[in-house]
Amino acid sequence: MIDLKKLEVWFITGSQDLYGEETLKQVAVDSQQIVKALDKSAKIPVHIVFKPVVKSPAEIFNTFQDANVAKNCMGVITWCHTFSPSKMWINGLKILHKPVLHLHTQFNRDLPWADIDMDFMNLNQAAHGDREHGFIMSRMNVNRKVVVGHWGEDDVQEEISVWARAAAAWFDFQTLKVARFGDNMREVAVTEGDKVEAQIKFGMSVYGYGVGDLVKIVNEVSDKDIDKLVKEYMDVFEVAKAGKPGGEFHTNVRYQARLEIALKNFLKNGGFGAFTTTFEDLHGLAQLPGLASQRLMADGYGFGAEGDWKHSAMVRAVKVMGQGLKGGCSFMEDYTYHLNPKGMKVLGAHMLEICPTIGKGKAKLEVHPLGIGGKADPARLVFNVPEGPAINASLIDLGTRFRLIVNSVDCVKADADMPKLPVARAMWVPQPDLKTGAGAWILSGGAHHTAFSQAVDARYLEDFAEIAGIEFIHIGKNTTISDIKKELRWNDLYYRFGK
Ligand code: MN
Repeated sequence: MIDLKKLEVWFITGSQDLYGEETLKQVAVDSQQIVKALDKSAKIPVHIVFKPVVKSPAEIFNTFQDANVAKNCMGVITWCHTFSPSKMWINGLKILHKPVLHLHTQFNRDLPWADIDMDFMNLNQAAHGDREHGFIMSRMNVNRKVVVGHWGEDDVQEEISVWARAAAAWFDFQTLKVARFGDNMREVAVTEGDKVEAQIKFGMSVYGYGVGDLVKIVNEVSDKDIDKLVKEYMDVFEVAKAGKPGGEFHTNVRYQARLEIALKNFLKNGGFGAFTTTFEDLHGLAQLPGLASQRLMADGYGFGAEGDWKHSAMVRAVKVMGQGLKGGCSFMEDYTYHLNPKGMKVLGAHMLEICPTIGKGKAKLEVHPLGIGGKADPARLVFNVPEGPAINASLIDLGTRFRLIVNSVDCVKADADMPKLPVARAMWVPQPDLKTGAGAWILSGGAHHTAFSQAVDARYLEDFAEIAGIEFIHIGKNTTISDIKKELRWNDLYYRFGK
């Protein structure tokens, strides 16, 4: 996956010439100190890079022009230590193509009560300088994140980190290639969409392949390579007896190893970061890729079943955002319900393809029949998901625009064991409750497929949607049905006329 440590955010401090050399020198020194602290912060996973203080239209334009083409620059932070008149920023903002975070901070945290004089007032003007800065971005409709507070505080660094991780996923999206083996699951609507528009909007591109292209390299995988990978499976997973060497289903396990090796080679050689499969197009494959898809997701690849390229891309994006954080990310489906009024909950799963990064404890490797698709019994990993907060994120194409819907959920323990359930599963209660959460989701048109994560929360996806310039709907603890209905109708108007 993309290495966050190699990515840069440029820190650009605004000022103007009329303060004189001494004050401007101090502005630069203070900015460097802030940059140093942010760059060193354990909370922020990317490099924060100091750029010389900008004081004129030309300096601002040139700095933004450089940011646009700098290979590892994935976004900019702007801040006005002093006043920096906003007309100077217009031509620069017109050409800036990178995500923006406006940090509304001040070098001094505390007022120097006993010593404050006019020199101090002259130097520390963010309280009004940043308002001038905010005005021009609002006037020019610049999508941005605004973070308020002292730069040394944990919550401020955390908010910068959330945005930086969303910006990293956006950076990855600009060159993301999704390989699609087979087309859509026939007749399914929500997994379809406008791939050309998606490329224009998000940068990522979707490449279709006949499953025969994959079959060819599946058949070329050597027994030696399969032996090696199967040995790894036996070490890493708790393998059922029938799946072990000599067992009744060992050949089924070996076949998934063959699929994993072939898929990985295909994706690596083609520079793909995500892929889809569909059980309706498996010509020449003996099994649906189950364990193979699970393992590739764990390796950082996005995945979508049934041709779902949008959620494959979203799984990839959320994996990039959550890199190094506690909790994983998986392709997910709201599968079945427990509707007992004493504790309604959702059982999330898929036919096979749930990523083990979201699992609790050692995953079990099992082989079971698949009641759909008419192929051999596939090997798959079976596990539970730990309790705690999580999100489900769904990207849909409404024909005229994309909408990103996020439901904050709380993962809970199952009420009882499910010894006969042959797939990995998560149990959760949607916020604010199942009735409202599911109702709001359905009114929003959210898909049955999602990117599920316990590593990130709704803030990351909100920043991502802001950077992408797409509609964002959050269903959380304050959601009501009548509010969401109004929000959806107002958004309709905004996207029809406002943009
Ligand atoms: Mn599905």
